[in-house]
Amino acid sequence: MELINNASLKSFVTFGVEASCDHLYRIEDIEELKLAAQFLENPLILGGGSNVLPIGDIGRNVLRIELKGIEIEEEEANDPLVHIGAGEIWHQFVLWALDRNLGGVENLSLIPGTIGASPIQNIGAYGVEIESVFHSLEAVKLGTGEIRRFSKEECRFGYRDSIFKQEAKGQYIITGVTLRLTREHKVNTSYGAIQDVLNQRGILDPTIQDVSNAVIHIRQSKLPDPAVIGNAGSFFKNPIIPKNQYDTLKEMFTDMPGFPSEDLTVKVPAGWLIEHAGWKGKAIGHAGCYEKQALVLVNLGGATGTEIWNLAEEIIKTVGEKFEIRLSPEVNIWK
Ligand SMILES: Cc1cc2nc3c(=O)[nH]c(=O)nc-3n(C[C@H](O)[C@H](O)[C@H](O)COP(=O)(O)OP(=O)(O)OC[C@H]3O[C@@H](n4cnc5c(N)ncnc54)[C@H](O)[C@@H]3O)c2cc1C
Repeated sequence: MELINNASLKSFVTFGVEASCDHLYRIEDIEELKLAAQFLENPLILGGGSNVLPIGDIGRNVLRIELKGIEIEEEEANDPLVHIGAGEIWHQFVLWALDRNLGGVENLSLIPGTIGASPIQNIGAYGVEIESVFHSLEAVKLGTGEIRRFSKEECRFGYRDSIFKQEAKGQYIITGVTLRLTREHKVNTSYGAIQDVLNQRGILDPTIQDVSNAVIHIRQSKLPDPAVIGNAGSFFKNPIIPKNQYDTLKEMFTDMPGFPSEDLTVKVPAGWLIEHAGWKGKAIGHAGCYEKQALVLVNLGGATGTEIWNLAEEIIKTVGEKFEIRLSPEVNIWK
């Protein structure tokens, strides 16, 4: 375990904002993690820092989870279980799976961050969420250091949601995740942009590697690389509104997209709302709304967490005034 006192979080969060914490513990060992969970008061848990925005200095302990290891169970099985340590990097794991011709996570290629954070918001992209391959996870309870296993049902996954953002928020440290992958693949190309790239490449019968390559191509062409421009991907969740509200809005804004679901609600792309509230490419101080994708807020250089949050609040306000829809952040705000 490495302990850094009065640590700067700037290089540990992809927004690249200056913020400090009292103590940063980098933990690679499960026994040390159990002790830390038992004895440290109310710590914040950090993975790759690609979905957090620290605002100001955090007068708390931060535990960075760096537990490693990937193990495959039933090597010969058609749909083997794979256990992955929480500190493994998500995309490195996707590449590991592709190398072994194991499918199910190819649409989630290039999502930044760690395995341990992936169930927290049920990471999703291009028509797939981790829920679809999820089997179970293990976590350490804060306060007691006890290990608990959560089944898929117990995780209560939803859109960018799980029990760890609800009742169990701040109570557990995920130490490892078990996924069920496939050897006989059913590729998912339902997301239009994937099919477009495959068509351009003349690929009629795509492999999981082809799908991964297409996803990487799309992501690199429209999302800013956090190593170059600080950001945390989509800043807001796509709001889900009642169908009758959507129908009324659609009469006024005829090109407003919406994805209806069976429960008489409609998911509206937050990027469209932000763009049509006039924010795309705009900035306040050092905080900007990304020019190629309005859903992404960026650190234009030297922004503070407060500046980025102020921009987010302005966006929430103007979108609310124009569409009567309240945006909520997908990013975890640390104050
Ligand atoms: C360019 C870019 C693109 C992105 N694209 C997508 C996308 O397509 N889809 C998507 O879903 N997300 C996307 N994200 C968001 C982000 O990559 C995911 O949310 C990712 O799972 C966060 O992982 P992390 O390790 O960086 O978590 P962190 O940012 O470190 O933490 C996120 C939250 O999880 C908690 N946490 C982290 N590790 C643990 C643990 N071991 N146990 C308990 N709690 C933990 C933290 O306390 C925090 O609340 C994107 C981000 C960026 C920068």
